[in-house]
Amino acid sequence: MNHEFDQDFERRVKTIRDELTNVANTTDFASPCVLAATKQQAVGAIRQAVAAGITRFGENRVQEAEEKWNELKQEFPHLQLHLIGPLQTNKVKEAVALFDCIETLDREKLADKLAEEMSRQGRKIPCLIQVNIGREPQKAGVEPDDLPAFLSYCRDKGLEIAGLMCVPPVDRPPAPYFALMQKYRQTLRLAELSMGMSGDYKTAAKFGSTEVRLGTVLFGERA
Ligand SMILES: *Cc1c(COP(=O)(O)O)cnc(C)c1O
Repeated sequence: MNHEFDQDFERRVKTIRDELTNVANTTDFASPCVLAATKQQAVGAIRQAVAAGITRFGENRVQEAEEKWNELKQEFPHLQLHLIGPLQTNKVKEAVALFDCIETLDREKLADKLAEEMSRQGRKIPCLIQVNIGREPQKAGVEPDDLPAFLSYCRDKGLEIAGLMCVPPVDRPPAPYFALMQKYRQTLRLAELSMGMSGDYKTAAKFGSTEVRLGTVLFGERA
């Protein structure tokens, strides 16, 4: 492993954490947790993030996550692995076995399958509801108007809903969307708010994100 790059990585993480703390100090909110988004990153890069003190990770695809994380989870049992990409119902079994949180719960059929599989495996893991906060036709997520009914549906199935997650529209300023997410979180009395990526994590912190999902600012541009 390249020692110089290691130190760079640690410095980057510290800079980001300081930025988040500084923003949070201007609000009534706590500083968000940093989740390292490791899609397309090799196990070596993930190890550097672990060495820099990151304990929460996110993967987008179940199969890629299995390939990298079966080994990593054995070695570092304290790490938390979240699914942050879309989940097909035919991958629910593997997802429940591997992940510690599903952040992309977005439809009733998926809620049914997750509840069924969790009880089959005797493994209860928290979920976040993904919200289509920009009401974009091509994007995954529950429509904001449907949130209360969907939350009740999931709870009736026995699922633990810890909070909400979103990816706001790429071509518009994110602040109004983050503000809306905070409002929904409060109205629905949920704890977690997964929002903010490399381009907008400081804005997300300002609006009370509890988890920012960072790829590019930690690992550089993806291929
Ligand atoms: C890739 C990804 C991220 C990280 O994106 P960056 O802009 O590289 O920080 C965060 N959330 C989700 C859902 C992603 O797919």
